Amino acid sequence: MQSKPVHNQAKGIHMQLVHRKIPREFLKVLPEGMKFIHRHEEEFLVVEQLYCARGHSLMVDAVRIHDEPSISIAVKRAEGTGLIFIDAYWGSHAKLYNFMADPSHPMLYADAHCPHCGVSLVVERECESPCRSTRGLVFYLPGGENRITVCARLGCPDHRIVVGGAPLKVQEEVSRINFFGYGIDDDAFGGI
Ligand SMILES: [Zn+2]
Ligand SMILES: [Zn+2]
Repeated sequence: MQSKPVHNQAKGIHMQLVHRKIPREFLKVLPEGMKFIHRHEEEFLVVEQLYCARGHSLMVDAVRIHDEPSISIAVKRAEGTGLIFIDAYWGSHAKLYNFMADPSHPMLYADAHCPHCGVSLVVERECESPCRSTRGLVFYLPGGENRITVCARLGCPDHRIVVGGAPLKVQEEVSRINFFGYGIDDDAFGGI
């Protein structure tokens, strides 16, 4: 990493973590790269490891959100490449940026790349929320089969997890876990 986040007063850091029920069946098939934790007497799923398609870890130990390493993506901007750090708590969308948003160049979609090799994280993906975007991002869990996809439209919370061996119904239940208690991220970057 070449640069330190400047937009460091992440309001999201102080967000309320709202509890959502984690299906018990999912814990039986909890994939490598995700952990189940207790915090404030509540249960959460936290992403521990994610990779780009070429196998580079996207986790950043030095930039922590809710005291966990964050997930980093590189985004192309008019002014050059920027980094976005995403909360590893499943269902949280808190983020940090190493750049300031430029209102004259609003970023609608995250044209995201691996910060290490530059491979695109963008895939064709139908968003199931009202935004109906056909652009998404894909992140691979260890092993390369299990994966997480998210809507690429900034501000859209749609995300899904694909875990081999987990019943579809359980995967859908986990995919629906979203915390809306944050509400304090700036509008331009509410999603992912
Ligand atoms: Zn890479
Ligand atoms: Zn969407």
